[in-house]
Amino acid sequence: MHSQLSYMNDTIVALATAQGLSAIAVIRLSGEDAIAITQKVFSGRNLEAQPSHTVHFGTLRDGDKIIDEVLVSLFKAPNSFTKENSVEISCHGSPVIVKEIIKVLLKHGARLAEAGEFTKRAFLHGRFDLAQAEAVADLINAETDNARQAALNQMRGGFSREINTLREELIHFASLIELELDFGEEDVEFAKRDDLRELIKRIQKYLRALIESFDQGNVIKNGVPTVIAGKPNAGKSTLLNTLLNEDKAIVSDIPGTTRDVIEDEMILGGINFRFIDTAGLRETQDVIEAIGVERTRERMKKASLIIYLFDLSLATIEEILHEEQGLQQLGIPYIKVGNKVDRATPAFVEELQKHNFTFISASNKTNITELKDKILASFQVKTVKAGDVLVTNLRHYQNLLQTNEALQRVLDSMDNGVTGDFLAMDIRQALHYLGEITGTITTDDLLDNIFSKFCIGK
Ligand code: GDP
Repeated sequence: MHSQLSYMNDTIVALATAQGLSAIAVIRLSGEDAIAITQKVFSGRNLEAQPSHTVHFGTLRDGDKIIDEVLVSLFKAPNSFTKENSVEISCHGSPVIVKEIIKVLLKHGARLAEAGEFTKRAFLHGRFDLAQAEAVADLINAETDNARQAALNQMRGGFSREINTLREELIHFASLIELELDFGEEDVEFAKRDDLRELIKRIQKYLRALIESFDQGNVIKNGVPTVIAGKPNAGKSTLLNTLLNEDKAIVSDIPGTTRDVIEDEMILGGINFRFIDTAGLRETQDVIEAIGVERTRERMKKASLIIYLFDLSLATIEEILHEEQGLQQLGIPYIKVGNKVDRATPAFVEELQKHNFTFISASNKTNITELKDKILASFQVKTVKAGDVLVTNLRHYQNLLQTNEALQRVLDSMDNGVTGDFLAMDIRQALHYLGEITGTITTDDLLDNIFSKFCIGK
């Protein structure tokens, strides 16, 4: 393995734009030799003599062969994203050109960037903290305007500043308590317990608000996993098609043909509902279908919302109420939908009206807007505005919970007259979890884990 230092000194290269044909592609280099390496293959101005933040036209060559006509943008350290010398080569967007250019840059001393390595370097050089770096990835992956705004807020500082301030106050107390420990047997108290208690309560109040915001933040970032369930032939595939307006799922007259779980997404009112079609819950003898049914049960347990379809052309009120009992036991919010309302008798519909059903016809597209309103009403999120602080990241959420627990132990210990060394230990724990959010405290594993989820070129 390479040492962290030489590895950080390498000049890295990657395609920064999407793979495939496009009008223009951008290849990005970063590292001490980024400009020097580019100069070796560039014919035009002497790049190293040019000022930062300038763009230069010329040809990129492999020996005598011209690969393409390009524009080269220069960013000199420390005034670049990574704070290293950086170059962006804009070439024509052909995969062949991109491959040839990267190949010739590798030949002259660059190495291929790892996933997220540009952002990792920016973080390690102190451009932003870890929570902000993670927000860069969230911003790129944002699928709704709400998700974009939440990521942008986090990238622009979000709760990082606040967390660091609270952390510093805690560090102050931790050091006073540790000082007490140095005095051993002597009965000294540098850290006023009442002040510490007050500080912890203030921090906990702030933490709790952040922790609670995750309910919304998670929905905004990850969407709502929504299962469409019901007996075979109830019309699940038809409904999915109607909702998505496309023919992704197989619709057929033979019960049990939607064997696989098909996932699709629909954005409603700024929320991404991830619809999961299922194989139905009929007891089955067919082994392959049985796997599908098992998967459906698993999926249902993971769902945040179940849209449950009853076939009004077949079911009796007793059957429906019996089926609903099973549904209730899952303890997950659900919407009861009576499908095939076109085949139901008016008396039957009237009877069911008492039981809070939404009546639709999936195939005739009757009452679909009403159903969409019901779906949306079950997950109201408010529009995210600039400056709103929202926890959207599971890692941050878990660390906030752990910090809060450690602080609670400090409070409990003080109430029970526990000695300073135990207080100090729990405060250190709290500091550790808080520090991991913004990256004041990191390990190689933590960083690898975070940045490996980025794409190459980011
Ligand atoms: P799934 O097994 O629950 O996925 O059911 P499908 O979506 O494959 O539908 C089963 C059958 O019911 C198909 O023949 C559909 O055309 C039909 N169907 C679905 N929705 C309706 C509806 O609202 N009215 C009527 N009359 N038939 C429907």
